[in-house]
Amino acid sequence: MAIIVKKPAPLTFWERIYLPAILKGLGMTMRHMIKTLAGGGVTIRYPEQHKRVPNNYRALHVMPTWEDGHIKCVACEMCSTVCPANAITVHAEEDENPEIEKRAAFYEIDELRCIFCGFCEEVCPRDAIHLTKNYEFVTDNREGFLYGMDRLTKTGRLVSELEAKENKDR
Ligand code: SF4
Ligand code: SF4
Repeated sequence: MAIIVKKPAPLTFWERIYLPAILKGLGMTMRHMIKTLAGGGVTIRYPEQHKRVPNNYRALHVMPTWEDGHIKCVACEMCSTVCPANAITVHAEEDENPEIEKRAAFYEIDELRCIFCGFCEEVCPRDAIHLTKNYEFVTDNREGFLYGMDRLTKTGRLVSELEAKENKDR
């Protein structure tokens, strides 16, 4: 069966000089510019101002602790098993508390490998690892992205305070 392709209609005079299309485009640009300026603009003065990220934003990890300062992690290794980026290293040891089978002797997250999927937080049976909204942890060396237990618990306290303040300011 033959396919008939229709020849497009020839361009009109105004279409050939492109002027109406250019003016229409400029009009739209002006409309958006005025709308943006009236709304206060979209650019923020970082780092003096910080971007308000959505509630489900996932960034730097923290390890919450119990009131006595002990971390909640029991070194079950579920987070390191589920991690698709192989970013978590956990080594277990016996806990002196007979009610707890084991605890983490070594726990480290390589934030450069992490893809912030949140699987580790979801799978943890002890609610021992959280992802926060803190995206400001850049550094100029690779070691700076390795977060061991000390940094994870310390950062956790700082971030919790910051997030509590942010929620209060809302
Ligand atoms: S957020 Fe995802 S990629 Fe990052 S450490 Fe957790 S499981 Fe691994
Ligand atoms: S952080 Fe949670 S999932 Fe990971 S080893 Fe500790 S208890 Fe298990």
